[in-house]
Amino acid sequence: MFFENMANQEHESFHQFYDPETKLKAIISVHSTALGPAAGGCRMWQYASEAEAIRDALRLSQGMTYKNAMAGLPLGGGKAVILADPEQPPSQGLFRAFGRCVDSLGGRYITAEDVGVSVNNMRQIKQVTDFVAGLPPQQGAAGGDPSPWTADGVFLGISAAVKHRLGSDGLDKLRVAVQGVGKVGYDLCRQLHAAGAKLLISDVNEKNLARAQAEFDAQVVPTEQILFQDVDVLAPCAMGAVLDAKSIPDIKASVIGGAANNQLATEADGQRLFDRQILYAPDYVINGGGIISVSLEYMGDKSKSEVQTQIALIPGRLTDIFVNSDAQNIPTNSVADTMAESIVAAGVLQPASIL
Ligand code: NAD
Repeated sequence: MFFENMANQEHESFHQFYDPETKLKAIISVHSTALGPAAGGCRMWQYASEAEAIRDALRLSQGMTYKNAMAGLPLGGGKAVILADPEQPPSQGLFRAFGRCVDSLGGRYITAEDVGVSVNNMRQIKQVTDFVAGLPPQQGAAGGDPSPWTADGVFLGISAAVKHRLGSDGLDKLRVAVQGVGKVGYDLCRQLHAAGAKLLISDVNEKNLARAQAEFDAQVVPTEQILFQDVDVLAPCAMGAVLDAKSIPDIKASVIGGAANNQLATEADGQRLFDRQILYAPDYVINGGGIISVSLEYMGDKSKSEVQTQIALIPGRLTDIFVNSDAQNIPTNSVADTMAESIVAAGVLQPASIL
């Protein structure tokens, strides 16, 4: 089953680590190095089982290959997961131990932040390896927590999707449901609120929820109902696989665009959204802002304004996908997959590549 999964998704390699001293259990999945070293964040999560963690690492690393290709980055796709509860303080030295795992791959994989992992954790990793980004930036330079950059791209992407589907030039008075108001969701809410959108939010973390509710005059919705609100836009910004055969029939939004990775449970769910005329902004295109920041930081000598310039290309890429989807009468996720796969297969970047 495990090797079958790897073969089906064409992963290059898969690494499991255990550190007896810190009790670190970590996985690094390298999906592709066709375009460059495999880059992607490190997620810390309390998985229900080891099989679930393996599945997550495999799927997330494949998504990173597509994301980096579509963002025009000279990087392949990889991802790390640490099997631990992010709400509990990590054991002393855990992130240094993880850094040694990253280092042992000799640069085939470059790490950064994802769910449950902070800039401070990246600093600890940096003590033992150079294959890390998302570190505190120098004045004006690219770097730091990628989440606000991810939120910028998602905001611009939602605006492009709204324009394409609803013909509206702004988000004023539109109703937007945001699932998960953590690092990215919070910053996205800030921008949506400033643009005049009416926000409906949910989160399992009471503190995050209260903060966004107070600051953005948001309506709190029970977690099991957030996907099904009467809204114009749904922004999944929590965990993956929320769009499936069970949820899609009850979604009322006409546009879906959010930060979460792997929002579709299966490829067929893209067709389900398409059949219901719900415009889906492929996750790995709309949420590429963070990896753009991370990679420009990693390459060195890059400024924040270059990060901004590259993120400003995200809405245009999405509009190309939407136009192709309409013209060919196929779902947006299929259009995006075909584009990404052809970039990787050619082993060369798009003309608009960053470096
Ligand atoms: P985060 O951990 O800061 O925020 C996630 C939030 O979702 C938390 O507040 C959590 O309590 C909440 N949540 C979890 N399960 C939930 C549920 N069932 N219902 C409602 N809320 C729930 O993580 P983040 O960095 O903001 O990332 C959010 C998503 O975006 C993840 O899927 C991540 O992989 C993806 N992503 C993040 C970045 C980035 O730059 N941080 C980049 C690309 C993609």
